[in-house]
Amino acid sequence: MPQLGFGVWQVPDDEAEQAVATALEAGYRSVDTAAIYGNEEGTGKALNGSGIAREDLFVTTKLWNSEQGYDSTLRAFDTSLEKLGLDYVDLYLIHWPLPAKDTYVDTYKAFEKLLADGRAKSIGVSNFLPEHLERLIDATSVIPAVNQIELHPQLQQLAAREYHAEQGIATEAWSPLGQGQGLLEVPAIVAIAQKHGRTPAQIVLRWHLQLGNVVIPKSVTPSRIKENIEVFDFSLDAEDIAAISALNEDRRLGPDPATFNMA
Ligand code: NAD
Repeated sequence: MPQLGFGVWQVPDDEAEQAVATALEAGYRSVDTAAIYGNEEGTGKALNGSGIAREDLFVTTKLWNSEQGYDSTLRAFDTSLEKLGLDYVDLYLIHWPLPAKDTYVDTYKAFEKLLADGRAKSIGVSNFLPEHLERLIDATSVIPAVNQIELHPQLQQLAAREYHAEQGIATEAWSPLGQGQGLLEVPAIVAIAQKHGRTPAQIVLRWHLQLGNVVIPKSVTPSRIKENIEVFDFSLDAEDIAAISALNEDRRLGPDPATFNMA
């Protein structure tokens, strides 16, 4: 899995083809979508029209909450593949755990079937707390390859990252730039950007990469799409990393997975 990919949340379907095509031209090979984003068709058009060999692309989509359950998952997966115009995805994720609904174990058993059938090359979860992962791992046979969670300098998820590392689960950061809201103006980050002659977004993405996180920044602006992948030709030093790590506030921008139950 490429450590840096392109996220398409909130990109309307009719803009997704252009945005994903721009990302592919800029060198991205991994794209993160979801059934609920409503842009699997536009995303698929860009992937299929890119001329890039399928095996060189890494495509992630996610099962929406309303479709949890064994049979409904298999049906929802077929719909996603059809919209994407693909015959397999590289990674399929359970979007939210919905602990009150308590159907993620059955849902994941359908994921294991999709994996065995080769239609999902890897399977994982999103927004799972360590307690949800523990239960899943006890009740099923394939350890999730990935847990995609909200993670940025103001929500560093230390306990989750430690648990994932123990279990061999990759940590994937959603909203890696803190949705661009304020984080990119934090003085410590601006100062590090000036020191390296880089942008604040590049500094934050580089921090993630050096921590070992997978990142999927989103933008529809071509210059930012390019800027966000130009992060493999410089490094932060220990002092920079420490300064960014000192910004943790355990502050979520998104919902709390323990209580989120939107259908
Ligand atoms: P993000 O942290 O990637 O921030 C995106 C915003 O930051 C953009 O809309 C733009 O306003 C700004 N931005 C981007 N590049 C910039 C740059 N170079 N300079 C200045 N500003 C810049 O936020 P996100 O879109 O919430 O998260 C990224 C991806 O994570 C999503 O597109 C989606 O694929 C995924 N995601 C998953 C979940 C989940 O529940 N699994 C939830 C949210 C997002």
